[in-house]
Amino acid sequence: MSYLRPNWVKTLVDFVRERGGRPFLTDANTLYVGQRKHALDHIDIAYENGFSPFSTGCHIIIADGLKGTDDVAVPLPDGKYVKEAYIGRALVDADVIISLTHFKCHEMTGIGGALKNIGMGGGSRAGKKAMHSSVHPQVEQANCIGCGKCTKECAHGACTVEKNAKGRRVATIDPEKCVGCGRCIGACNRDAIVTDFGEPCTVMHGKIAEYTAAVVRGKPAFHISFVCDVSPHCDCHPMNDAPLVPDIGMAASFDPVALDKACADLCNAAPVMPNCCLAGQDTHGDIFATMHPVTRWQDAISEGERMGLGSGDYKLVKI
Ligand code: SF4
Ligand code: SF4
Repeated sequence: MSYLRPNWVKTLVDFVRERGGRPFLTDANTLYVGQRKHALDHIDIAYENGFSPFSTGCHIIIADGLKGTDDVAVPLPDGKYVKEAYIGRALVDADVIISLTHFKCHEMTGIGGALKNIGMGGGSRAGKKAMHSSVHPQVEQANCIGCGKCTKECAHGACTVEKNAKGRRVATIDPEKCVGCGRCIGACNRDAIVTDFGEPCTVMHGKIAEYTAAVVRGKPAFHISFVCDVSPHCDCHPMNDAPLVPDIGMAASFDPVALDKACADLCNAAPVMPNCCLAGQDTHGDIFATMHPVTRWQDAISEGERMGLGSGDYKLVKI
């Protein structure tokens, strides 16, 4: 429910067209099964959510093609984790990148900001698989009540509920089938699904930063984040809980690292909304760490800096 409004996109599309640009909207297919798993369903869901050529003024091109296989292996000689990033071809072919990001919390990366949008969003299915490969969720059976919510969220049949040796129904995850998408983590109301985020979280931020570099390097890029409806979880969930903070507005920069840091700081400086899931909790000035304690959003900033994408040392200019 908190995805970006099509009329905001139209404003930008008109701006680009008036200056002679030929804009198109793009996104790559998802790793998990859902309505963005291939280009036909992906375009259908875009239209259903109001992103038609008639409302936005431009076409949608799914970056990695019909089945998520149309990618380009972009070399990253300075990559620590990735030496070749699999990027959707339409993004590689684009002359200019303007990212539009809904800034929010994220259960695997703490914040879902510009770096996450460009890096994870720009990776083809093979790229997304590579970025998630270090994440291996497990069920803490003592906390599991066998409700099965996680099994409904898992599109790969990796998460099942069965009786354990004590005859209690609990969830288990088959590591052979699990692709590390993390959707089950957010589905569990008992916090029974955990992952060793110490190492993998940093690794995932590192891979996302490297994929972001593969998308934007060598071409002009500008980044706009909408700090509105700051939801507790990723927008891939079929619902959004109440926003954690009041709407803050739009933030923009040529530097996606500065942008993510500024957006996080703006949210953390804002009052927590009285009707949200963090109401009454002491967030210690960090709603992202409170919401997703096993993540470290600051790693996004340091890994973005490592890849030369920008600096977390920003100057905020209010307009
Ligand atoms: S959602 Fe959580 S409590 Fe329910 S079965 Fe899955 S792991 Fe267990
Ligand atoms: S991370 Fe969870 S939802 Fe994703 S494939 Fe693995 S078990 Fe399924």
